[in-house]
Amino acid sequence: MSERILEVTNLETYYGPIMAIRGVSLEVRKGEIVSVLGANGAGKTTLLKTVSGALECRKGRIYFNDRAIQNREPDWIARQGISHVPEGREIFPFLSVQDNLLLGSYRRRDRHQVDQDLEIVWEYFPVLHERRKLKAAYLSGGQQQMLAIGRGYMSHPDLMLLDEPSLGLSPALVDSIFSILMRLNEECGITMLLVEQNAAIALKVSQRAYVMEVGAVVMEGTSSNLVLKDDIREFYLGEKSEGVRGARRWKKRKTWR
Ligand code: ATP
Repeated sequence: MSERILEVTNLETYYGPIMAIRGVSLEVRKGEIVSVLGANGAGKTTLLKTVSGALECRKGRIYFNDRAIQNREPDWIARQGISHVPEGREIFPFLSVQDNLLLGSYRRRDRHQVDQDLEIVWEYFPVLHERRKLKAAYLSGGQQQMLAIGRGYMSHPDLMLLDEPSLGLSPALVDSIFSILMRLNEECGITMLLVEQNAAIALKVSQRAYVMEVGAVVMEGTSSNLVLKDDIREFYLGEKSEGVRGARRWKKRKTWR
């Protein structure tokens, strides 16, 4: 088995007095795509923000390549090789597409490699190349998502934290974004921790997954096993249950908490 790149143990994160992450533990191995599934408010975004240093944890440890990174500055964490592609993209609307991408590389000193990486982004996202001089505000939602991923790539990360890349996109665009993410994983060797509400696509592209509810991990396993579980099919893939079996499953689900 490949070596561990990220290890999170017994993490607790609060918003003031409210505990949003309740003792979460998980790991990601080099080269994997690992997804974190969960409904609205389950704590997925909070988890990613705690890993990338945007939020402080009150308890627990986060190791990246065996080095403790919890509660370090986001800038320092990014320099270790973690790139956070946030929910809602957070691009700079009044900067050009190209300048948004270059902002992703501002910590780097290997300028010649930056130029090459920009060429790679143009290859993966030709539409961004066509629109490179345009203000990012004029891009469509799907193109803005491509820009956010491209900017994440420009920091030359070992690990990408992806927060809901499917958000607000049509099914066709979701497919094309995810096929590019898979190529970045396979061809560029970028490990990915992917937060998604779209469980169908997340389970398709990831090797393993964690399911979160109310701030805690309630299930984990290989994606190929999870996709066969009744609870996952019913509550995350939207497949209908019938009669008593469904009621039993609902009851069982309540015991997750
Ligand atoms: P979503 O998919 O809706 O973003 P999520 O699984 O990412 O959901 P989080 O955004 O991490 O969930 O939220 C976890 C919990 O923390 C929720 O109960 C949410 O209401 C709460 N929360 C999130 N942000 C804040 C905040 N800034 N202040 C207070 N509570 C917050």
